[in-house]
This record gives sequence, structure tokens and C-alpha cells, in this order.
Amino acid sequence: MTLFDSSAFEGHEAVHSFFDEKSGLKTIIAVHSTARGPAAGGCRMWPYASADLALEDALRLSRAMSYKNAMADIPLGGGKAVIIGDSRTQKTPALFEAFGRAVDALGGRYWTAEDVGVSPGDLAHTRRATRFVAGLDGHPAASGDPSPVTAEGVFRGVQLCVRRAMRRELDGVVVAIQGVGHVGALLAEKLAKAGARLYVTDVNAEALKAIAAKTGATVVSPADIFDVPADVFAPCALGGAINGETLQRLGARIIAGGANNQLASPEIGRTLFDRGLLYAPDYVINGGGIINVAGEIRALEAGTAFDPAWVATKLDRLMETLGEVLDRSIADRRPTHEVAGEMAKARIAKAAEGQLAA
Ligand code: NAD
Repeated sequence: MTLFDSSAFEGHEAVHSFFDEKSGLKTIIAVHSTARGPAAGGCRMWPYASADLALEDALRLSRAMSYKNAMADIPLGGGKAVIIGDSRTQKTPALFEAFGRAVDALGGRYWTAEDVGVSPGDLAHTRRATRFVAGLDGHPAASGDPSPVTAEGVFRGVQLCVRRAMRRELDGVVVAIQGVGHVGALLAEKLAKAGARLYVTDVNAEALKAIAAKTGATVVSPADIFDVPADVFAPCALGGAINGETLQRLGARIIAGGANNQLASPEIGRTLFDRGLLYAPDYVINGGGIINVAGEIRALEAGTAFDPAWVATKLDRLMETLGEVLDRSIADRRPTHEVAGEMAKARIAKAAEGQLAA
């Protein structure tokens, strides 16, 4: 595969690779778009089997960040960094500091943050070499854990979908939650408070026990969560939960949850629509976390303190956008993920036009 042939390339502005011999750092930083503002997206450390696979992942994730940031209407473009390596055995302070030099070399076109395999502790080393890092504690602009804002957005998104598809409130609605980590557990608590009845699953038995005790949820095994009689299925674990096999088993009318990349393929989104299921596009409903991060970048750039009111206003706006996606899907008889993709592309194109005109 060459870079420009990759199916995920789709108009990337720039793709940078950096190698640091001393620390062994091998990183790819993909900048999909800076039309709406500096590209922002986390840094993932993963033992990719080849540089091609790392590149493919960086491109796919970076484009997804452009779409997510555009739908959240925050002044950020989309980018992503991947570090090739095993996060359990190959992390060193020197490696993350070298990564900071790589980020800094882009002069603010890319802001980094945590993602899979990378912790705030790692990014503290990155911060020594660049200021373009979000997600660190200990300063007035710090935004803290984004999960509560993500969970609030997902909760309100579920409520919106239930109102649209079932014409009722959450009281008595049955929700199946796959994964009760940071986002899933908070979502479960909010739903239980609103009177929903819950089925929950996780591979972590301790987390399950704790959430069942708090919410009265019925615990099922990870393999069985697709078969429970639920109105809403809320994927809050890993990507790809909705595929040909699981879709056969799902009885839910609504799919709305916090996980990224819920659909195993775009075709599955079309199948969901044809079968009359309502799917809340993942990168729209789970945009609360990136809004929180954007609040931190905004404060760092302005030299001010983090402003939770700005985040709250943006989250309200995000929920209106989700409503718009659902409305257009009904009006145009098109799957929600296609409608959202088109809206995101149009927002990015409009910002790019503005940049050219300025
Ligand atoms: P987390 O790691 O805290 O929680 C994920 C949970 O899923 C864990 O408890 C894990 O044990 C469980 N899990 C893993 N595999 C499973 C399986 N096969 N069946 C059932 N449970 C399984 O992560 P999180 O921060 O809660 O994020 C959850 C999802 O939401 C991820 O896809 C993440 O990318 C996405 N997301 C999170 C945020 C955020 O603010 N944290 C923002 C946007 C998107």
C-alpha cells in the first residue's frame, strides 16, 4: 500500500513520521484537517505488526477526529498520533519526551492527548518538549477526566432517541449496556436514576458487581448481552460491537452508546436503517469528551482558567445537532451515519472556504 492509495487517506493535509534513534521512538502523526482549527486527537501506543498497519490506523483515527470535532462544533480540526510499540514493556520517559519534540516540530498544527496505551503520566514527559498537550492535571486550564461529560452526552442522546423512536420518557425503558468502565458506569447510574431498567455486562467482574449494587441492574455474561430483551443497546466497550452476527441477535430498536467505531462496517449502518433501527452515530453522541478537551485547549491558548459553562453550552449544542441528524435521516430516508458524515464534511468544507477567503 502506498500512502495516497490508502482507503483512509481521504484528503489528509499532512502525514508525518518521526524516528528517534536514541529512545527508539517510531511515531506517525496524521493531520486530516486544520480547516476548523489546529488538528486535535489523542496519541495511541500499540504494537502494530507493520508500519502499514500503523499508518492505516493513524489515518482512520485522524479522519474520524475531524468528523467528531466538526459535529461537536469546536474550533479544532482532526489529527491523531500513533506510537509503534508495546505500552506494557516499551514505555520510557525518553520516548515520550522524543514524541513531544515530534509534536512540537509541527508548530501547533497538532495538539495531542491520551488514547489507548498512553496515560497522563506519559504525557507529562511529552509536555517537557512541547506545550501542545491536553489532558494534564495541575494547572488552572486543566479539564480533568472527560468521561463524566461524555456520559452526560450519551445519557441525553439515549433520552433523545427514546423520545423519537418510542415517543416516551426513560422511565420503564429497558437498556442493555455493554461495558461499565468510565463511561458505561456513569451512564448506568444516570439511566437508573431516570427509571430505566438495566442489563449490564463487562469482562471485569468487579466493575460489574459494583454497578449492579448501585443501580439494581441485571448482570449478564459478555456473550449474552446481545440476546437480552432490551429497547436500547448501548455499546460502551470496544469498537465493532455491531456486526452481521450480533445484529441478528439484537432485539433493541435503538442503538446509542459511548463506544467509538460501533459499526463493524458502513454497510451495517445501512442494514440497521433498512430494518427500522435507530442508530445514534457514535462520533456525535460521544462528543462530550472532546468538547471537554477543547475547553482545556481553549483555556491554555488564552491563558485563562477552564470554563465549565463553555463546555455545557457546547454539549447542549451537540444534542441539538444529534436531533438534526435524526430529523434529516427521517426526512431524507437515509441512514443516520450517512447523514452525519455528510454534515461533518460540509462543516469542514465551509471552514476551509472561509480560510481561503480570509
Ligand atoms: P474503559 O476502559 O473505562 O471502559 C471500557 C469497559 O469495557 C471496561 O470496563 C472493559 O472491561 C469493558 N470491556 C472490554 N471488552 C469487553 C467485552 N468484550 N464485553 C464487555 N465489556 C468489555 O473505557 P471508557 O473510557 O469507559 O470508554 C468506553 C468506550 O467509549 C471506548 O470505546 C472509548 O473509546 C469510548 N469513548 C470514551 C470517551 C471518554 O470520555 N472516556 C469519550 C469518547 C469515546
